[in-house]
Amino acid sequence: MMVLTKKMIEIRSILQKVGQSSSLTLPSIVVIGSQSSGKSSVLEAIVGHEFLPKGSNMVTRRPIELTLVNTPESNEEYGEFPDLGLRRITDFSSVQRTLTELNLAVSDADCVSDDAIHLTVYSPNVPDLSLIDLPGYIQVVGQNQPLQLKQKISELCDKYIQPPNVILAISAADVDLANSTALRASRRVDPRGERTIGVVTKMDLVDPTRGAAILNDKQYPLRLGYVGVVSKAPQPPGLFKMGPTNLLSAIAKHENSFFSSHPLEFGPDAGVSVGTTTLRKKLMHVLEQTMSSSLQSTSDAIRQELEEATYEFKVQYNDRPLSAESYLAESLDAFKHSFKQFAEEFGRPQMRELLKSELDQKVLDLMAARYWNKPIADLSVVQLEPDQIADLPKADPSSLYWHRQLDASASALTKLGVGRLATTVVSSSLQSHVDKLLNNSNFATHPFARNAIMEAASTILNERFYSTSDQVENCVKPFKFEIDVEEREWAQGRQHVGDVLKKELRDCEAALGHLESTVGGRRKLKEVMTFVDKSRKGDIVVDGDGRSGAGGFSAALLGKGREAVFLRDRADIIKMRLMAVKSKQCSSIKNKYYCPEVFLDAAASKLASTAVLFLNVELLSEFYYNFPRELDLRLGRHLSQEEVEQFAKEDPKIRRHLEVIRRKELLELVLEKMESLKQLEGRDRDQVVGG
Ligand code: GDP
Repeated sequence: MMVLTKKMIEIRSILQKVGQSSSLTLPSIVVIGSQSSGKSSVLEAIVGHEFLPKGSNMVTRRPIELTLVNTPESNEEYGEFPDLGLRRITDFSSVQRTLTELNLAVSDADCVSDDAIHLTVYSPNVPDLSLIDLPGYIQVVGQNQPLQLKQKISELCDKYIQPPNVILAISAADVDLANSTALRASRRVDPRGERTIGVVTKMDLVDPTRGAAILNDKQYPLRLGYVGVVSKAPQPPGLFKMGPTNLLSAIAKHENSFFSSHPLEFGPDAGVSVGTTTLRKKLMHVLEQTMSSSLQSTSDAIRQELEEATYEFKVQYNDRPLSAESYLAESLDAFKHSFKQFAEEFGRPQMRELLKSELDQKVLDLMAARYWNKPIADLSVVQLEPDQIADLPKADPSSLYWHRQLDASASALTKLGVGRLATTVVSSSLQSHVDKLLNNSNFATHPFARNAIMEAASTILNERFYSTSDQVENCVKPFKFEIDVEEREWAQGRQHVGDVLKKELRDCEAALGHLESTVGGRRKLKEVMTFVDKSRKGDIVVDGDGRSGAGGFSAALLGKGREAVFLRDRADIIKMRLMAVKSKQCSSIKNKYYCPEVFLDAAASKLASTAVLFLNVELLSEFYYNFPRELDLRLGRHLSQEEVEQFAKEDPKIRRHLEVIRRKELLELVLEKMESLKQLEGRDRDQVVGG
């Protein structure tokens, strides 16, 4: 006996994990009663501890689903709030505080909520029971309470007092039973009195004869009967609260002495049930019976739920198995695979190209500063013809000035910090590639893993940064003294710098085109540009600060005009540079002082190639070797089960998938337990019949 209740309570807590489903709730004992009827005192007498919220201001605002677990093998008594992850609270005044806080979290404006609090109490002194405490019925609505509160409480209670639950209807002996709100509510849902236990509290407050008459009430006869209790223990003197077993024994003693002093009314022959101990036994018995008779219907309901979950799993997820661990492992493998592919495609040539184009920009800037730095107005008025190109730049190659110009430019290039530049360019390119790979991976929807991976990359790259840039800087050192360029390299440089300039020119022209379209056409832009040109030459005086607009043009338009003039001038210069590079003089290294652009391009190529050799060894190979290992470290075995779950559930699709599987597994487990319980039940019955 009583194994059934324990097992069913176990099943009940598994079902709670599956989630709310009304058909799946196993029978419980629901406690209802008016405020001050002594409801809390009865519950505390059953548990043997003071643990319920106390106070006058509607302290029970949410249902408390209380599970009592009998632990005969242990002396410890403690409470747990599974939803909050609060375990093993041995101090029951702390349980009381938590319950008070959880209840008062419901605002005064709402006053009640149907969001249940789950509390489990483990003790050798409690029976296996599942009880639900509900807010007490009120007679009048208080000052700060919503008008419809009475109705809200009553609706909340109605939800819980449905079958197969057992109703524990609490009424106080000093109030006429006909006026008991609890009994009236119970009668509405259980008119034949089949699943209601009447508890009459405060028996000590009425005359024993009258008390006995109440327990024999024939107005609303109950199959399970009425039990009279005195659940208030006399307070011990002083400030000390009663200890756990003290409360139990004190109440028992107090009740005993009261009932036994009126043997005529409450004695064994009086035909009434009295005392908290009697009540406990009755509750255990009734719950066991109810559980047993609802075994079949509950397992049918579970089977149906399981069928639904199985169907959902099949239709939506193709029966595809998944666990948080396997999902993480697969995602990590796929990511590492994509990284490996990238590593095969990104090597020395790619690094060289990256670095070279960075150096190209530096060369362009250097050239602009050292050679093409004449006042723009001077250059832009020159209308160039192809045959004039031969004169550009108008340099005498034998002049020392041009020698020094070229040497200074080359020196500026080699000394700009190639080591640091190269390492930075390659590092940040690697990081942005990792980011791109992440975007196309499962991890795109997982901020936690994403951060871990980006951090893994930057940790390795940062660790290598200084030594790599030093190495690279050292190996380009010789170029700071001398740069030897061969004819072949010269030809390549000439070709390449031509392409770079052409691209610059295209960019410039595209920007001009864009400006045209924003101001409303080529003619309009031309007009503004002409105005800007004239005003610059001093032909026109722009009034004030020029910002207010001039020549009938708005300030914004003038701004665009200036921008366009700048772009046009720049395009003109680039054209000149391009023509210079293409000119005959620049076809050989012999004329290198004529053609600094080509020379610097060839020098930049040498720098890039040399730097890349060392970048490859110091940075890239190291990164390719360490990165996958770092990923394993950060996302592999070191994560706790909870972290893995948390990771997987970041993606809503995966979360739903995992939930269906979990639900299915739990339901299967529950069903299996139910089946073995049913067999056990059948055997017990056969034995009873047979014996
Ligand atoms: P609740 O509002 O229904 O939970 O009622 P409580 O359990 O808080 O009890 C209301 C008041 O009645 C408290 O002051 C209790 O001490 C008192 N009380 C409860 N049960 C008894 C009883 O059996 N006898 C007496 N004399 N007082 C009781």
